[in-house]
Amino acid sequence: MANKMKKPQTEEENVVGHIHSVSPIKTSDQNVQYFEAILQTGREDFNRVVVFASKKRNEFVQAADNRQAVRLVRVRKSFSFGNPGGFDVLVSSNSSVQVAEDLEFPRRNPTSAEELTVAQVLTLGPKQRVGTINVRVLRATAHRVVQVRETSCELRVFEVCDATGQTSLTVWDRLIVSVQDGWSYRFQTLATRKEGDRTVLTTTPSTTVTPTTEVGQPAVLRPVSVGNEEVVRGPVVGVKILAKPSCARCHTGQDNLVVRCTLHRCERCDMLQRTAAFIISYSGVLIVLDRNGEERSMSLTNSAIFAYVRDNFLNSSAHDGAALEESVMVLSEVEVTISCDGLVVCFGGTVAAKSSTEQERATGALVQDSSSTDQKSASDADDSRDGSAICVSDEMKVLEEMVDDEECSD
Ligand SMILES: [Zn+2]
Repeated sequence: MANKMKKPQTEEENVVGHIHSVSPIKTSDQNVQYFEAILQTGREDFNRVVVFASKKRNEFVQAADNRQAVRLVRVRKSFSFGNPGGFDVLVSSNSSVQVAEDLEFPRRNPTSAEELTVAQVLTLGPKQRVGTINVRVLRATAHRVVQVRETSCELRVFEVCDATGQTSLTVWDRLIVSVQDGWSYRFQTLATRKEGDRTVLTTTPSTTVTPTTEVGQPAVLRPVSVGNEEVVRGPVVGVKILAKPSCARCHTGQDNLVVRCTLHRCERCDMLQRTAAFIISYSGVLIVLDRNGEERSMSLTNSAIFAYVRDNFLNSSAHDGAALEESVMVLSEVEVTISCDGLVVCFGGTVAAKSSTEQERATGALVQDSSSTDQKSASDADDSRDGSAICVSDEMKVLEEMVDDEECSD
């Protein structure tokens, strides 16, 4: 141990807590060896610890195994990207690990920080939190609108897997447009449900989703029954799009918002806010003349209209149902994908039947682009015109309450 007192470059401090989930030793892109752990610094507070001193790993493993609280001495706190409002703890070879006496809070598992595999999820009971999981989305198996406490909520069920197993994931409301068949995603803050004997996953109001590198699949995939999606093409006979605004702060629906005004005062919490900051939930009806000359009337879902707005760069009209209706009416022909449950999964204009493969390619690229844009702008809460904010519907309030109830009952 060095006797000389060196003035540290940044302020060093001591942090007390319980150690969880010590990782193997890793090597960074810059060839620096480190390992990670989770430090529980409060009843509900979990912080990422990065240790740049491989020799200390045994001490961390022992503290975790023995459930012994520790004092990490001469560490640094740094801003945490993964945990806004929290901090990461950086441990160097100059830091030390000491035994700490009884802490004011109990040791509990950091379910919100833990990364699970599908096989691990399948062993969980219902109403458990799943902090992080990487899965591949195999395909959508259902698309429904359900009433939850007198509010319509949209859900889409996907069969998902990783190399260890397979289950299903119910994606609610605003997240539906972020999830596509065949892609791999990193989901944070999911919850479990029981569907018969099988433990399945569902998104929660705090779920985030980010595309990730391709996730593997089990040797044998369990077959799933999927109703076929139907594609209808033809000219639009009529369209109705309702864009119902609600306050992002108090979640109350607004009856008198004027889309042409840049500011609007919430009718309940009385807060003056930018019109664009109000959250929109869409509903509507689309009537298309199909190839057989029959009029087909279809329910437009929030996610289908949201994806239409996003993929056609109509964000400036996102709050204006009438403007969106006009944009649909000027399309010479639309292509509508309808789920086996009779809901519109997606719709958009077709350029010409001949160049449909080119069109599909272009659309594919577009979807990819816009989803990555969404990711970038998702953290930018100020820019409510970005996709992430528009699609958050006031149903989320209901879902939030559902989750709150669950948390209380735990
Ligand atoms: Zn309000």
